Amino acid sequence: MKIYRFKSAQQGVVRAVEVNGAFFRLEGSLTAPKAGEPIDVSGLELDVPVEPTKIICVGLNYKAHAAEQGKQVPEEPLIFMKPLSALNPSGSPIRLPAQSQLIHHEAELAFVIGKRAEHVMEADAMDHVLGFTCANDVSARDIQRREKRYTRAKGFNTFCCVGPCVVTPDEFDYTQASVQGRVNDELRQDGPFSDFIFDLPRVISFISDIMTLEPGDLILTGTPSGVGPIEDGDTVTVTIDGIGTLTNPVTR
Ligand code: MG
Repeated sequence: MKIYRFKSAQQGVVRAVEVNGAFFRLEGSLTAPKAGEPIDVSGLELDVPVEPTKIICVGLNYKAHAAEQGKQVPEEPLIFMKPLSALNPSGSPIRLPAQSQLIHHEAELAFVIGKRAEHVMEADAMDHVLGFTCANDVSARDIQRREKRYTRAKGFNTFCCVGPCVVTPDEFDYTQASVQGRVNDELRQDGPFSDFIFDLPRVISFISDIMTLEPGDLILTGTPSGVGPIEDGDTVTVTIDGIGTLTNPVTR
């Protein structure tokens, strides 16, 4: 099942699921979805497919990316947070802030919590995952390097691109998948998730020992090597086979 949220001038937020290529109204909750009556989603604008209470990101989760940033591979997962105000759906522009002259794309796998997780063991961790989506952890690299903090560099509005949908684990095996990041159709990033330094059960268990993960919470898993600048007029895409493509134009 693929889970979508759309926005409509007439209907407000429309939640839908896609089953075998057909769209149905989502019944139940986003984290316990069922297919209702068939609906026509043509002409509706995509919204972010999640309703998180928080967004947690893993940094430096690929050896080659740690190397390109001149960083040691961390001994424990390195985490930070992005504000909910940074959420940006597929199709909506990334707005370049005037405070930065070097903005990078970071193509990533993200996943959504489906069941509250608190002090979860690695063996049980994946039971708490609702599904998977594509993300772009947009980063003002000059500010990040100068401040050595992530809150401002990665917290600007539109800097957490997510979508187009959430795919449930019965339809998607992340261990066999990879993420591609492109700028104007030029392939910049291509990383298999088998290269993670910290696999998802470790990440979930680690975070759940710090803070309770609520249904809908969004976790970005880190970016492979190949990050680079985006500029006004570019189009950035993040593609994961089995999920789809997240597309965002870039504007000043
Ligand atoms: Mg990142």
